[in-house]
Amino acid sequence: MKINLCLLYGGKSAEHEVSLQTAKAVIQALDIEKFAIHPIFITKEGEWRKGPELLEPVETIKELQFEQIPQEIGANALSTILSSEGSQTFDVVFPLLHGPNGEDGTVQGMLELLNLPYVGNGVLSSSAGMDKIIMKNLFAQEGLDQVNYTWFTKSTWEAAPERSYEQVEQEIGYPCFIKPANLGSSVGISKCENREELKTAFSTAFQYDRRIIVEEGVTAREIEVGLLGNDFPECSVAGEIAPKSEFYDYKAKYSDGDTDLIIPADISAEQYTEIRNMATRAFQALDCAGLVRADFFITNEGRTLINEVNTMPGFTPVSMFPLLWKHTGLDYPALIERLVQLALERHKEKQ
Ligand code: ADP
Ligand code: MG
Ligand code: MG
Repeated sequence: MKINLCLLYGGKSAEHEVSLQTAKAVIQALDIEKFAIHPIFITKEGEWRKGPELLEPVETIKELQFEQIPQEIGANALSTILSSEGSQTFDVVFPLLHGPNGEDGTVQGMLELLNLPYVGNGVLSSSAGMDKIIMKNLFAQEGLDQVNYTWFTKSTWEAAPERSYEQVEQEIGYPCFIKPANLGSSVGISKCENREELKTAFSTAFQYDRRIIVEEGVTAREIEVGLLGNDFPECSVAGEIAPKSEFYDYKAKYSDGDTDLIIPADISAEQYTEIRNMATRAFQALDCAGLVRADFFITNEGRTLINEVNTMPGFTPVSMFPLLWKHTGLDYPALIERLVQLALERHKEKQ
């Protein structure tokens, strides 16, 4: 019996195009003998379109624009899924979505209500991981080392901007990083060296969210590991991000050649052990499931600090997470199968 796998991709977030590339790669990697693939494409406007089941060998769709596969069939695909008839078609759903409305617990909540198994993180870890303030508060409670930070709502700032800047200068100092609480891909993030830059950075970040986080800026190497599993996740080898720009900004993340990925990272066995332990504690503190990419700083002074976990990390075959697992011994098709298996196991435990 084939596994009926629903792929959800596209979406309203800034990472729409990345999600399309991911979906294409996943479809090409899936073994058509083991999986019946049901594509569901979410347009940039947020409309859901269901495609036909993909039965042919994937080579035949390679030349197609990927958006062409799904054709709207009658009603909006969302209502098809929400009908019990529609959801019974799927054994498992793989949300290949990044950012708000995909990686933040909203889609996961819908799938919970439908009682459908799905790949990756649940509602709690997805939403906690998407919110940098909540995530860092949970890390702090777990006793994980991280940069100093503070946070503001738009209303507090608007009521007393000068007082907000003074608070940053007293508690955090320069350089500091200003970030919208709820985004990824470095969108809306600025590095500030002085009051002028701070003012601009606050205005920029508040365009994206009503809450922002301000962090102490560190000079550091950026090291990442992938975790795979449910209650007892396994850890991949470590990789290093070496951006050629000043920090790992949106452009560096999505333009070829702007960043070097070094796998395995040149770190000591002690440093790797520390990172693996911290990553596992972070995974468990947020009650993560399936997969996480945990990102660290190793500062010039030699401190290991956790920066963030990403609950739906970049997942094209050339993204860090799949590459880390490839170096650990699990290639892209095997990684996808493992994630599906973890989703089914977790769903069974919940029943
Ligand atoms: P995102 O979730 O958008 O990836 P990050 O918090 O990882 O946001 O920030 C993006 C990049 O900005 C990091 O990869 C790093 O290069 C840089 N950066 C972020 N915070 C700091 C910090 N506190 N000190 C130094 N560099 C930082
Ligand atoms: Mg992130
Ligand atoms: Mg990041």
